[in-house]
Amino acid sequence: MLTAITGINWGDEGKGRMVDLLSQDYDVVVRYQGGNNAGHTVVNDKGKFILNLLPSGILRGEVTNVMGNGMVIDLEHLAGEMGRLRDAGIEVGPQHLKISDKAVICLPYHRQQDCLEEERLGDARYGSTRRGIAPVYGDKYMKKAIRMGELLEPEALKERLRGIVEWKSLTFTGVYHAQPIDFDQVWAWLETYGAPLRPYICDTSRYLDEAAKAGRKILFEAQLGALRDIDFGIYPYTSSSSTIGAYAPVGAGVPNHKLDLSVGVMKAYSTCVGEGPFVCEMFGDEADRLREAGGEYGAATGRPRRVGPFDVPASRYGVRMQGADQIALTKMDVLSYLEKIPVCVAYQVDGVITEEFPTGAKLDRAKAVVEYLPGWHCDISKCRRWEDLPKEAQEYIRYLEKKVQCSIKYVSVGAAREEYLVLED
Ligand code: GDP
Ligand code: MG
Repeated sequence: MLTAITGINWGDEGKGRMVDLLSQDYDVVVRYQGGNNAGHTVVNDKGKFILNLLPSGILRGEVTNVMGNGMVIDLEHLAGEMGRLRDAGIEVGPQHLKISDKAVICLPYHRQQDCLEEERLGDARYGSTRRGIAPVYGDKYMKKAIRMGELLEPEALKERLRGIVEWKSLTFTGVYHAQPIDFDQVWAWLETYGAPLRPYICDTSRYLDEAAKAGRKILFEAQLGALRDIDFGIYPYTSSSSTIGAYAPVGAGVPNHKLDLSVGVMKAYSTCVGEGPFVCEMFGDEADRLREAGGEYGAATGRPRRVGPFDVPASRYGVRMQGADQIALTKMDVLSYLEKIPVCVAYQVDGVITEEFPTGAKLDRAKAVVEYLPGWHCDISKCRRWEDLPKEAQEYIRYLEKKVQCSIKYVSVGAAREEYLVLED
């Protein structure tokens, strides 16, 4: 059984929360893309955790976690994240965590380049998390990146790294008029943070292939949502990797296997971190109230998230791109304060009303068409069965299902593990 848990929207849908819940039925959890620009907040009996790099299954001792070849890994950040979990009494040994030998290392100069480029862009910046993600993926495709497996062959690595640092220094000095990169510093960093990880590095592709063939249940965890996918998202305000479910077997290392199930995590309203078109965006008091109600501040950066009502064109597109078989609808409880619930039902583009999600300059010109649905205006966080939900909440769920053309299987009504309902078919 191979299942992907993906984001239908711009990210921060509550994927970590759903992986934490659903991983109870899985043997292995794999992160298949992205780096520490992600932030998954998980609240369970062990406490509250923010995971940036580690798969969310790490909080269950019996689950094996894999960081796939599609990832980019900042070793220093990973050391900090593992340390914080250990401090909280959670084991993160090589029996709990396997790191792909083909995953790429995000180096300190990638972070630095990310900052230099955002500064250079000024007002036209991408709103990067400045964690080096775009530069390191760029280098991967330039074939100038270092992979985890190279840490196991230090002599060969040293030689290759020399050439790469020389090349990268040309960009730093020539393009940004910055200092050249100090090889010894990079090498020392790799020694400090790379050496302790050696026991974790292996051919995770073989491990997962064998696990899948032995009938073990594998969960693929996405980092950001469909609208941040490098190909299908709001380019260039996307992430630099493929966030979609179809990429999960590739980024995890088992392209010879097919997904059995794709669960799309969809938020009951919209949020977006950083720059880029966000057609349904709300402003002023209305936005402040929703942001406060939902606690919408970035888990990775603490930045206030931009907020808006549920966006039908964007979510319907997200469901299609994710190939979602079913949906986990999250943060329904957050809307309880509203007497009537705004929904962006369509876009108006150049005078034409459409439910299609446009890309490029057309998206910049799109205006939200907003309608209101009746609110339930009471606490639903204790609801555990469909019958417990007020009629208006049931109608909101049915409305969303119809609009995005996919059935909603789970409804999350709180951040804690047990605060959810399963809807029967
Ligand atoms: P991810 O990046 O998709 O894993 O999502 P984040 O963790 O960045 O953001 C989701 C936030 O909402 C986290 O703080 C979760 O603890 C919280 N959360 C998840 N589901 C629910 C829910 O149903 N209700 C409420 N109130 N909070 C939720
Ligand atoms: Mg997040």
